[in-house]
Amino acid sequence: MEFNIIPDEDALSKCAWCQNHISDDMEVFGVGTKLKPDVDLSEYESHCIQISLVSEEKPIYMMVTAQGSEAKKEGKDGLFLLCSIECSKKLKNVLAKEISIGKMFGTVHFE
Ligand SMILES: [Zn+2]
Repeated sequence: MEFNIIPDEDALSKCAWCQNHISDDMEVFGVGTKLKPDVDLSEYESHCIQISLVSEEKPIYMMVTAQGSEAKKEGKDGLFLLCSIECSKKLKNVLAKEISIGKMFGTVHFE
């Protein structure tokens, strides 16, 4: 799989779903995901990538967790940062679909 790497300053300041600006004083919502066993994103570790979805036209941003990180130890291969509970709900619905019809996601964790 080939992905575009998003520069950190973009990735860390934008909602994965609506791409609204996230500022330091906002509450940020996190969603973690475990990828299917045959999806290898090791070359993108610790970067944010733009992924496309099966059920949605718009691309979304996902952080690929690094080996040895806390998130990885909790079984999360990818993390999404979201600006609001609404965005996290929308992403949750989309990821639920992706899990059943897509090739990328295995399970999703919500915090
Ligand atoms: Zn948002």
